[in-house]
Amino acid sequence: MILENDDTLITFSETETMKMASLMAGFVYPGLAIFLSGDLGAGKTVFTRGLSNALGLQGVRSPSFTLINEYESPDSISVAHVDLYRLDPGDESDLDLHFYLESGYLLIVEWAEKIMDPPLEDIWRINLYSMNQEGVENSAEDHVRRKITISAIGEKASANLKKYLETIKKEIVFQ
Ligand code: ADP
Ligand code: MG
Repeated sequence: MILENDDTLITFSETETMKMASLMAGFVYPGLAIFLSGDLGAGKTVFTRGLSNALGLQGVRSPSFTLINEYESPDSISVAHVDLYRLDPGDESDLDLHFYLESGYLLIVEWAEKIMDPPLEDIWRINLYSMNQEGVENSAEDHVRRKITISAIGEKASANLKKYLETIKKEIVFQ
């Protein structure tokens, strides 16, 4: 794993993406929305599995058909995992994603760019870029390399993201 600059990580395997996601567990909070963007196969579900596992939630699978999977945790944070791939832009209002945020879930959304009316705070936006799209792949390394950028909206989300990135820096130095 490489920290390319203050908001950009590079991972070189599924395991490394799980790891960078799992390290977020100490910095996410009920009512935070994580908006994931990136092509099919970029690693959005892998990321969600890594973070959820670290929160003690097992069996995370893609909600591409169910649209929403809920994982309830009695003693940690509950997660609502949403995949908007099959929805037309704007139709996510039917899913009432605000309900999950108001109910204290951590909301994780794949294909979040389809959300027309995002909240004004408590958001982490995470983009996963894969270099292995058709015509772009140049080497075997491109197949497993993911560029992951993270930004925050809102005071608390920004403060917690900063703490997370400090943790990542230490992790990379000592690995
Ligand atoms: P998405 O949900 O974005 O469509 P998935 O998480 O379902 O994508 O799948 C990502 C695929 O890419 C998995 O098969 C995973 O093994 C593979 N992969 C290869 N390198 C990486 C990496 N660095 N990070 C995440 N996944 C990776
Ligand atoms: Mg997925």
